[in-house]
Amino acid sequence: MKLFDPISCTVTKNGEMLTNATGRYRKALSDLRGLYADREAFAGREKTEGDRVVYEVAEFRPSDRAGDMIFGVTRMVPGKIGDEFFMTRGHIHRKADRPEIYFGQEGHGVMLMESPEGEIRVEEIGPQRICYVPPYWIHRSVNVGEKELTMLFAYPADSGQNYDIIDKSGGMAARIVDDGTGGWRAVANLDYRRRSKVDVTRALAEQ
Ligand code: ZN
Repeated sequence: MKLFDPISCTVTKNGEMLTNATGRYRKALSDLRGLYADREAFAGREKTEGDRVVYEVAEFRPSDRAGDMIFGVTRMVPGKIGDEFFMTRGHIHRKADRPEIYFGQEGHGVMLMESPEGEIRVEEIGPQRICYVPPYWIHRSVNVGEKELTMLFAYPADSGQNYDIIDKSGGMAARIVDDGTGGWRAVANLDYRRRSKVDVTRALAEQ
């Protein structure tokens, strides 16, 4: 059996984000069309800021094998569309029984999590704070602060990502919005459609 060489990565504050990264991607504002409640506000912003990077990820992915691990850094700029804070697309793991941890480095965010049945949980993320996303929870990070939100993440290498589960239900059950006093609150997503028992079973069983 060929062994993978041990390696160390450094989280940097420059554009590199992570030394020795094996992959990177960026999501611009225009990639996030359809996520935000205020479609009109989004369309206006997209015209002038469509190419602006909202979040980016640098990762170290040794392999996709079961038992291996992927880790990396994600950075999201602060901002809102209407009163709704910038967020990632969000996903459930394709192998839904795979967990993930997020470790806050800088900024102030929340992890918005939803069970397949539609139960919502929100955990705060900041420097030195670790959020554990258990198996089977849909998850999305949200920058609720005034600065960039930087987090480290790690998850089993064979997890995969399923984005459709959110698209099909009209988003997640809750939205994270400005509470008007410098904080955040979770409000019901009026576009949300509850998953059928069949869809829930399918999401949980997918391998
Ligand atoms: Zn994940």
